[in-house]
Amino acid sequence: MKKRERGEAKKRINGEGGGGGRFWHVTDFHYDNTYFTSQLSCNDDVPSPGPYGDYWCDSPWRLVQSTVDFMADKTKELGVDFAIWTGDTVAHISDDDTTLSENIAILRKVTELLENALPGIPVYASLGNHDFYPSDQAETNVSEIYTKVGDMWKDWIKSQSMVERFEDGGFYSVLVPNATSLRVLALNTNLYFTSNDLTAAVADPAGQFAWMEQQLQNARATNEKVMVTGHVPAAPLTRGLVNWFYPAHKTRFVDILTSYHDVIVATHFGHDHQDGFKLIQNTDGNNMDR
Ligand SMILES: [Zn+2]
Ligand SMILES: [Zn+2]
Repeated sequence: MKKRERGEAKKRINGEGGGGGRFWHVTDFHYDNTYFTSQLSCNDDVPSPGPYGDYWCDSPWRLVQSTVDFMADKTKELGVDFAIWTGDTVAHISDDDTTLSENIAILRKVTELLENALPGIPVYASLGNHDFYPSDQAETNVSEIYTKVGDMWKDWIKSQSMVERFEDGGFYSVLVPNATSLRVLALNTNLYFTSNDLTAAVADPAGQFAWMEQQLQNARATNEKVMVTGHVPAAPLTRGLVNWFYPAHKTRFVDILTSYHDVIVATHFGHDHQDGFKLIQNTDGNNMDR
């Protein structure tokens, strides 16, 4: 689990002469609801985990709570405008030890925690590969998890048409209120994850690539800037490690990002369980200018 607050320079968020803003990025809570009993998420025997758990296990509720309490305490002081929450709320436990309804109950519990801790602050949330049941198997069409979670997040997503968009593939976009023309594209990149057996042979799972391009075209036409968020990042954790995305999906995704680098101000993902910054190069090997 990690949390961080990010300030963005004025020009990047709001364009020349804009007012600037701040947001939280919280991700990968991996709440283990069996903690202090069977501790099903622990990798090794942990004879006596501390009150906030152990490095080799996922998070007990106390750790999740204390993270969100910290965010609640600091939100006003820092002038935070919105939050992004990029998935993996369910623990690393076997499919035999959980169910879809248990995963949904965990997502509901953390959604309510954030709602209560951050009144009036919208949270732009995405699902992570561990939130699905079976694990990693993000569906390409309407499914129970999308419908139930769309209903849970509807006050943050606001527009009914985007809630319906989420219900059919797990992605949506929102124009951030009180920011000058800043749009969040909250993607479902679990559709491209190499552990997803449902999408290996699908060129554009759930039509998300086509939708993303349309959103970016519209943003360019209306002078919006776009922050792209999601759970699984396109790049590997470090150079030389295995790619998270299927190769064809990675190529298409990076092509879209580079084609719209004038519109996209930043991309933010979870899944890596560590902070990191990656620069995307174009096909000539040059870094993009943002
Ligand atoms: Zn994770
Ligand atoms: Zn993950």
